[in-house]
Amino acid sequence: MTCGIVYDPSYLAHEQSSSHPERRERLSYSLDQLEEEGIFDLPQIKLFLPKPATRDDVLLVHTPEYLKFLEDASINGGIIDSDTYIPRNLIHDALLAAGGAITGADAVLNQEVTNSFVLARPPGHHAGRSHGAGFCYLNNVAIMVRHLQRRGLRRIMILDWDAHHGNGTEEIFYDDPSVLFCSVHQYPFYPGSGRFEDIGIGDGKGYNVNLPIPAGSSDRVYKYLLEEMIIPLADEYMPDAIAISAGQDNHFTDPLTGLALTARGYAELMKEMCILADSICHGRIIAVLEGGYSMEGGLPYTNLGLIAAMAGLDLSAIREPEIYQNLLKESISEDAFPQVVKMISELKKKLAAHWYFIQRY
Ligand SMILES: [Zn+2]
Repeated sequence: MTCGIVYDPSYLAHEQSSSHPERRERLSYSLDQLEEEGIFDLPQIKLFLPKPATRDDVLLVHTPEYLKFLEDASINGGIIDSDTYIPRNLIHDALLAAGGAITGADAVLNQEVTNSFVLARPPGHHAGRSHGAGFCYLNNVAIMVRHLQRRGLRRIMILDWDAHHGNGTEEIFYDDPSVLFCSVHQYPFYPGSGRFEDIGIGDGKGYNVNLPIPAGSSDRVYKYLLEEMIIPLADEYMPDAIAISAGQDNHFTDPLTGLALTARGYAELMKEMCILADSICHGRIIAVLEGGYSMEGGLPYTNLGLIAAMAGLDLSAIREPEIYQNLLKESISEDAFPQVVKMISELKKKLAAHWYFIQRY
């Protein structure tokens, strides 16, 4: 198993302000950790430089009016919402992030690597067709998915495990059965959407699967969701590739969220996704970085764990420094698991008409 890492030092350029949570240290600390562990020297790892997305790539997802708004605001700066400013030159950085996702997809489709992990900024999953939000401008994963389909792939599964609901991605594919969108997120929480009752519309009904989970959800909850919903959904849907909106803000040290996933939990989650992808779609996984704001305590270890899993390496050494173990204990809620079991039972009733694996039980 080989893993392509898509990265360019230009991914450090974008910055709203030096104190904004979505700042360049998110990546620079992770890169330091990967270099320290010798990841780039391994034969299973191949580094790719991103090419910027073209206007045509972007217009597969976003409206011409919104793209023009971003281009114009990138000249002198602008604002989308109170968390999302448009710094000068934004469009250049946003196109390179979306293009990185396309570069990762092409590396997999051209069989240069089994899977790829795109370490890009700014993130994308809150961006809808005609608007940005929540630190996001262009929806990198959606643009990449449309690119895969333009290259001939028919069905794509998106797993969005960022702690926040991927509302932009949901909006883009809500009526589209050629994309199975599955989002695991803290709920209730920003951006407020992501109810399990929202299962798609029209031909897309049944192909939008929200898995809202309470604060304090631990590795055990994610493993349960994987076994109970995500793997059976994928086995039945049989996608041609799996895209992962890989937000690492579920980590128990994350300052913006309240979930309790560990670096090892992330790595095991990715390992299971790689086994799944191997069995149904030639191992094709394209993971794209979304959120994750624990720059020193979380991101370097989670990103390392994910890459180790994608390259088929031994995961036994993946863990956070010992000093964080007490914080982990305090972060886990014992009430979360039974709440999630109950939610899944209700969700299955909503989805039963659309999925055989649910009807069989
Ligand atoms: Zn997030």
